[in-house]
Amino acid sequence: MRHFLQPEMAAPLLPELGRKLGLEWGPCDGSWLHRRGTTPAGRIDMGENALSELKEMIRARAAELGFALCGFTTSGPPAHKAAYEAWLDAGRHAGMAYLATERARSTRVDPRRLMPACQTIIVLGCLYPPPLPPTDDPLGGRVAAYAVGDDYHDLLPARARTLAEFIVAQVGLPLEWRAVSDTAPLLEREIGQRAGLGWIGKNGMLINPGHGSYFVLAELLINLELPPDPPFETDRCGSCRRCLEACPTQCILPDRTLDASRCVSYLTIEQRGDIPEALRPGIGRWAFGCDICQEVCPWNVRFAGPAPSSPIAARRHFPLRDLGAELLADEVALAARFRRSPLRRAKRAGWKRNLIIALGNSGRPEALPALERALSDGDLLLRRHAAWAVGQIGGIAAGRMLREVLEAETDAAMQAELLHALDHLVRAAPR
Ligand code: SF4
Ligand code: SF4
Repeated sequence: MRHFLQPEMAAPLLPELGRKLGLEWGPCDGSWLHRRGTTPAGRIDMGENALSELKEMIRARAAELGFALCGFTTSGPPAHKAAYEAWLDAGRHAGMAYLATERARSTRVDPRRLMPACQTIIVLGCLYPPPLPPTDDPLGGRVAAYAVGDDYHDLLPARARTLAEFIVAQVGLPLEWRAVSDTAPLLEREIGQRAGLGWIGKNGMLINPGHGSYFVLAELLINLELPPDPPFETDRCGSCRRCLEACPTQCILPDRTLDASRCVSYLTIEQRGDIPEALRPGIGRWAFGCDICQEVCPWNVRFAGPAPSSPIAARRHFPLRDLGAELLADEVALAARFRRSPLRRAKRAGWKRNLIIALGNSGRPEALPALERALSDGDLLLRRHAAWAVGQIGGIAAGRMLREVLEAETDAAMQAELLHALDHLVRAAPR
């Protein structure tokens, strides 16, 4: 959706700020304010110093709104357009078919398709606190650090809109703008690099030299020509390979992209339905997302710190101390868990499927009561994954549970799943 702020709303702010910027203002036809030397297209004929001052005012306001990072770039196509198209053509986007539609492809490689009048993209970075370390609890689990607070998809566009209104008030023109945060097809990290915020690391994350990579991005597209910041050209990964070595599914590719079909973040957030059995052990205790390739990155080890002023810093109900209790949560508790949270993207089936896999990976017999309940869930997807998880835990009680369920089961696919789990349990039993 595009937004316009009528100049009448900006008018009370103009005299003081206009003078500060060296502008001259005059009422014209009673409905618009015209500034001498300004064309209606949002081009401002003021000196470099005034434009630089305007940019600094925007950066200062962005910081007040919780955006520790703020860079300016043009609306031209991203430099690595060909690499992105090759990634899609190779099917590395896995089940994220929405990335490969004709419209999404053409828009991602040309931001002006999102807003034809766009002249500048202001790229905003909002820090979030680093991940909590894993708990010692026997059934403890993990959630990606960006997802423990309120959903940035809701919070950040609203703050970017406030910034847009601030800019319109400074300039006094009826500017057109659009605020997004992972809510429109845009190669955000590429554009962030071009706006000087950092470089794209081998793990595919945008890394800022002063803050590391624990931040999420929002963009403000605006039809106002502002001088772009210099792109961040240096690759500061050097010979480091920590993220590649630590990735539990070896899905980081040499061209700084990911094979999404094997990435734990993709599997636990975007994947619908079954998670392939071979990939389940790599998920470990992650119930939503994965931070491993960021946790090991020296730029995070060195520079990431608390983000006290961040709008997405609130920790709500985490860490996950008991995956079994989460799995047993009733629908009311689940609705509370999902409210304003990024977790809702996985939906009930995906979230519970992830909890079941993490419980299976725990190998702890304490997980069996919650898994027994999941074996009788109305959703066959959850029942199938629960059979696998019980088989992973193994032992006499797990074997008895699988056999009892098998005796009463009538669904052929579920029977096959239970037999497969029993087979695994028998083969893995100590001799
Ligand atoms: Fe690997 Fe996890 Fe990073 Fe995905 S998020 S690339 S699985 S370490
Ligand atoms: Fe680059 Fe090393 Fe960080 Fe990976 S872990 S992104 S290679 S600096």
